[in-house]
Amino acid sequence: MDRIKCLIIGSGPAGYTAAIYAGRANLSPVLYCGLQTGGQLTTTTIVENFPGYPDGVDANQMMMDLQKQAKRFGADIRDGIITKADFSSRPFKLTTDRGVELEADSVIVATGASAKYLGLADEEKYKGEGVSACATCDGFFYRKKVVAVVGGGDTACEEASYLAGLCKKVYMIVRKPYLRASDIMKKRVAEAENIEILFETNTVGLYGENGLEGAHVVYRKGEPDEKKYDLPIDGFFLAIGHKPNTEVFSGQLELDAQGYIVTKGKTTHTSVEGVFAAGDCADPHYQQAVVAAATGAEAALDANEYLQTL
Ligand code: NDP
Repeated sequence: MDRIKCLIIGSGPAGYTAAIYAGRANLSPVLYCGLQTGGQLTTTTIVENFPGYPDGVDANQMMMDLQKQAKRFGADIRDGIITKADFSSRPFKLTTDRGVELEADSVIVATGASAKYLGLADEEKYKGEGVSACATCDGFFYRKKVVAVVGGGDTACEEASYLAGLCKKVYMIVRKPYLRASDIMKKRVAEAENIEILFETNTVGLYGENGLEGAHVVYRKGEPDEKKYDLPIDGFFLAIGHKPNTEVFSGQLELDAQGYIVTKGKTTHTSVEGVFAAGDCADPHYQQAVVAAATGAEAALDANEYLQTL
């Protein structure tokens, strides 16, 4: 069986940064990439807020560079998903989707988070045929068409702005009477002539005979002036936040009510000694690439300290 000193799970900014630091500390890290090599950033276009890139950087290029940098310091980067984890005894035992069994002295969990859906049955029905959670991945299919983006945070504004450059019209469906997004994103949305914000509006269903044709929406649901109507659209984009990819660790690591891995104080230590968490899977608040990268570095430093005690 493969005995690994430092196993890293996940290939976003947190995982790769952990691999760079662990490699440089001679921990011979092995990194499993997971479902989406490069993580969530690979679904975006240009990263404008990562320090060191005054003109922005192509997100896919940045992730490929991070991988290259991790390899340079000896990281063993492997395709595959960890489907089972047993942290009840040492070495820790893990299994991949290909049935490969691994033993690890330390583990850094950097599995990130995934987009949330509203939970409507219609979302499943039209997934890939009008429903998407990634404007930069799928926006191209809606050129000169009418789309809606659900959500009022930074992600929703970013997706709406991106789609505004491609589509004839973009509705933002926002359940509150205001946007939660930062001022710069609100301004960007306000300046786009083809974005219309539908405040205090909820989606209750989707319709269409051949693919998506529209959304059933309700304005001020439950209020005296409630109004139900149909909004004709070709594409429906979800941007209502994320859920951490931590199901596989449920029952093994302490998770909070939303499923985020609980870490101790200002460290990356989890409830199991020798298992560390970095990036969005342990961060319900900041969810930024630069923060994920920083916690990846911390996790590798914490793992190195821990391994020296063995
Ligand atoms: P947020 O949690 O900030 O926003 C989610 C939005 O979706 C809110 O408007 C929320 O409404 C709405 N929402 C949630 N659930 C539902 C639902 N069931 N039905 C309808 N609407 C719903 O998530 P984001 O993904 O936008 O951002 C996450 C973090 O990442 C934030 O800290 C953000 O600042 C950051 N970010 C930064 C970017 C940048 O700086 N360029 C880009 C993207 C994200 P309500 O307000 O009513 O709760």
